[in-house]
Amino acid sequence: MAPSNSGSGSQRVAIVTGAARGIGAAVARRLSTDGFHVAVLDLDEAACASTVESVQSSGQEAVGVAVDVADGPSVEAAVSRVASELGPPSVLVNNAGITRDNLLFKMSEDDWDAVLRVHLRGAFLMSKATQGHMTNAGWGRIVNLSSTSALGNRGQANYAAAKAGMQGFTKTLSIELGRFGVTVNAIAPGFIVTDMTAQTAQRLGVSFADFQAARAAETPVPRVGTPDDIAHAVSFFVSEGASFVSGQVLYVAGGPRG
Ligand code: NAP
Repeated sequence: MAPSNSGSGSQRVAIVTGAARGIGAAVARRLSTDGFHVAVLDLDEAACASTVESVQSSGQEAVGVAVDVADGPSVEAAVSRVASELGPPSVLVNNAGITRDNLLFKMSEDDWDAVLRVHLRGAFLMSKATQGHMTNAGWGRIVNLSSTSALGNRGQANYAAAKAGMQGFTKTLSIELGRFGVTVNAIAPGFIVTDMTAQTAQRLGVSFADFQAARAAETPVPRVGTPDDIAHAVSFFVSEGASFVSGQVLYVAGGPRG
């Protein structure tokens, strides 16, 4: 449980990107029960409504804000709005993501660029726009979403490169920001039941139920993951007690790599 007040006496504010659904929505809900006000960022502000409502129902303030994390002016405007409507953000969860899977010989330049833009450029821009609030407060937490795909996954050259890149980005920010009381860590989920994995099943032409059963059978903890499994790990990294844990990559995959 994080303390509800920062050193300056004001309520702590968390930003979660891609929080309209899936893992981001679960993280937003969890951080609200941990005592944070939560800014719910996603491409479409209207799509943020149900996550905003669930944060508010746990007694915290929330705002839904439209952002394209890969667009500099959009990121600047979104972070400014969060700071003025909820307060300066001291927690950032870089969760927004997309897949554009294909085998290398069929992967288009657009599919390569789109995936690297959202994950890497997105995390870079969001982290750059929020870090000043954290260093000013002398306290902050950045949690980046990597993936077991960082270790290699057929049909995901773009996504694997982006998710491996997130790990190097995480380690470097942890070195730069540690002296300001800011920790930076990454979570690498295995198979998590969300719209993203449902789309993968559809692309492969298998039912989502069969896809999940197959993935569960090959996982040492024999089940698939849920968004709440990831939210729990985020909650740990963000907690006060994790202040000496930085630059780490935690695989949350029911085994060493899912
Ligand atoms: P999801 O259900 O597809 O949700 C991703 C969210 O990100 C969507 O709401 C999406 O908005 C939003 N988004 C996409 N591009 C954006 C942009 N440029 N700016 C702002 N928001 C944007 O995905 P998920 O499964 O919850 O995944 C969340 C994170 O975990 C991703 O980084 C993913 O790579 C990572 N991850 C997931 C799994 C898994 O098994 N699900 C495993 C490992 C890692 P739209 O709906 O409008 O597109």
